[in-house]
Amino acid sequence: MAKDLLELMPYYLVSALPSRFIGYPPGTKVYYRLLTTRESLEMAKMQRVYDTYRYILKGVKTEGIEKEDLFMSDLIFISVLRSSQSGTVNALNVQAVCSKCGKNIKAEVGIEEVYMEDYDKVQKRYELEGTDIVVVFERPRVRRYLEYLEYLEEENPDQDLAALALPIKSIENFPDKGMYKELSLKEAMEIAEDLPVAVFEELSGGLREEPPKVRVVCEHCGEENKYSIDNYEEVVIKPFRRP
Ligand SMILES: [Zn+2]
Repeated sequence: MAKDLLELMPYYLVSALPSRFIGYPPGTKVYYRLLTTRESLEMAKMQRVYDTYRYILKGVKTEGIEKEDLFMSDLIFISVLRSSQSGTVNALNVQAVCSKCGKNIKAEVGIEEVYMEDYDKVQKRYELEGTDIVVVFERPRVRRYLEYLEYLEEENPDQDLAALALPIKSIENFPDKGMYKELSLKEAMEIAEDLPVAVFEELSGGLREEPPKVRVVCEHCGEENKYSIDNYEEVVIKPFRRP
C-alpha cells in the first residue's frame, strides 16, 4: 500500500540550481519529489553519509543526464528542496546569527539566488609537458563523490591522495583525441601521485565540491553574511512557495 502511494507522489521541476545548469547538456531537466516521513526517519538513523546521498537520489529524476551526473552541490540543494512542506518551491526562509553583531537574522531568499563559488569553472585541462597527454579535471559529480566516500571506508585509505584525485576525470591525447580514458578514482589516484604538485596548487579554489550558499544582509548592522545551506548548526533553511 505504502509503496503504491509513493508511486503516486508528484515530481516537481527544479527551476534553479547552484550550478546554473552549466556543465549539463542543453535541455537537461531535474525533478524531485517531497521527502516522506518514512524516508526522513530512516535518514535520521543513517550513520554513513554515503547512504544518505543514495537515499536523497531516490527522490530525484533527471532528463538528459543520469542522476549520478549531477554535481554534488546541486544534489545538496535538491535535498533541501525535498524537505519542503509543499512542492514547486521558489524561495527559502533563512534564519541564522549574524557573524558580526551576533544578533538573530531572518530573510527570504529566492531559490535562484542560491549560488556556488566558481560555478562557471566546470573543467580544466592540464597538458603534461613534453607529452601529447591531457589530464582533464572536473568538478566532482555525484558518481565520483560516492566512489570517493566508498573508498574512504576501505582499510587504511590514503585520504589526502583521494581528495586530490577527486576532480581528476579522464586522460586523453591531444590534439587528435586518439586515446580517451575515463578514470576510476583509484586510477585517478595513480595519476595524481605522478603529477607535479604545482598542478594542484593552481587548481585550488576551483573544481572542488562547493556547498551551495546564500547571502543574507544583517538588518541590524548591515554585514553581508554567507551561509552554506547544508551547515545545519549555523543556519536554519526552510523551503517554501512564495505566492
Ligand atoms: Zn549583524
